[in-house]
Amino acid sequence: MKKKRSKIFLIIGISALSLLGLIAIQVNWIFHTAQLREQQLKHRLATASTHISYWVSKDSLLTANIAEKVKENDGKKLNVNIGSKEQTVLDSLIKNKFEYQQVDLPYSFRLVDKRHPFFKSTCYNQQISQRICLEGVLEPNKKSKDRTAKAEIRIFLPEMMGYVWSRMGWIVIVSAIMVALTSGGFILTVRTVLRQKKMSEMTTDFINNMTHELKTPIATVSLASNMLRKEKILDNREKIVHYSSVIHEENKKLQDQVEQVLRIAKVEKGEYTLNKVQADIHTLVLDAIATIDLQVREKGGKVQYYLNAMRHTVMADVVHITNVISNLLDNANKYTSDTPEIIVETKDLDNGVVISVTDNGIGMSKEMQKHIFDKFYRVSTGNIHDVKGFGLGLAYVKMMIDAHKGNIELKSELGKGSCFKIFLPYTA
Ligand code: ADP
Repeated sequence: MKKKRSKIFLIIGISALSLLGLIAIQVNWIFHTAQLREQQLKHRLATASTHISYWVSKDSLLTANIAEKVKENDGKKLNVNIGSKEQTVLDSLIKNKFEYQQVDLPYSFRLVDKRHPFFKSTCYNQQISQRICLEGVLEPNKKSKDRTAKAEIRIFLPEMMGYVWSRMGWIVIVSAIMVALTSGGFILTVRTVLRQKKMSEMTTDFINNMTHELKTPIATVSLASNMLRKEKILDNREKIVHYSSVIHEENKKLQDQVEQVLRIAKVEKGEYTLNKVQADIHTLVLDAIATIDLQVREKGGKVQYYLNAMRHTVMADVVHITNVISNLLDNANKYTSDTPEIIVETKDLDNGVVISVTDNGIGMSKEMQKHIFDKFYRVSTGNIHDVKGFGLGLAYVKMMIDAHKGNIELKSELGKGSCFKIFLPYTA
């Protein structure tokens, strides 16, 4: 079993690693594609800016007018105001070159005076992040004495970074959906495998448990019947009565156990009919208490009951609901190591009755509480190891309460006790 378990975890581990590897490759590929697209864009921007520079320098009227404005500014303001005519010419030039390079990004541009103290020439590479600096555009005439350009045109592209990702939108979305689907599928598969594994372990436990439980009465019956065949015993009427009553008791135990297993199988398959009648819950509670009372007293404990519900008649199947209450009482008695103090209470709500069974038993942790309504589930550790049971009682309780359109709640604390609350509607 251990070998099988570690094999499953090994397979899950390898699959998880491969999945993580695939996700890493996918993410890396997306970033790589984004980088390539950014480089392509930068390249197109660089080409566009070279063309703009070229055509600005070719337009001598434009450069002369701009140079005039720069001269007037004389380094006083960082941004030099240029005339609206020059603005329009420059704008259409930039637009044209951008269109030619298929750059459809919003932009704005400014003429910047290099002599202003705040000017920081950061434009070494033509294009840095979101800014294009058209260097050399306003380079003075080679024959002029002053050979330093005094201003430059800067084009701002505020949406440049978002542009690359917005163009990659569908790739990112499709990849994210695929990764989510694959991861979701993987998680579901792992959960199913682990659940199946748990189920198979619980079924094996159940079979072992059942075999063990059946073996004891069978052995006792076999022993008692062997005794009955002995000559010595046949003459002793008292002994005959004793051994035959042992056989009868053990046979009844066997019947009950087989009944319990068959009952859950039937309920699970839906092969049962609810014979719903107007049932008095208080009568059912008292009947169930009567069957457990002696066992509780034998352990030195007691069952107290407070039948507070004013309206206590519900549409229910008498046999099944009595079984349900008996199951809860039986557990309250079984899972109490000291003297059981069991309290049964009823109260009525607007739409139904609540029956609660509280015990001072061993209680359950939060993790155990998650599973106790599962078929075959038994808490197999701690001091309840030798408490008899098949792990079917609460699964049956839950199924029956659901069938009556009611609900069941559990409050329990390890070492302190448990409280099961059943709600049954008046008209199920
Ligand atoms: P069984 O009693 O036959 O094992 P059940 O389905 O009735 O099966 O209960 C499932 C498990 O829930 C039990 O094995 C036990 O560990 C836990 N349990 C049920 N009722 C109580 C209770 N009142 N106090 C503590 N543990 C309980």
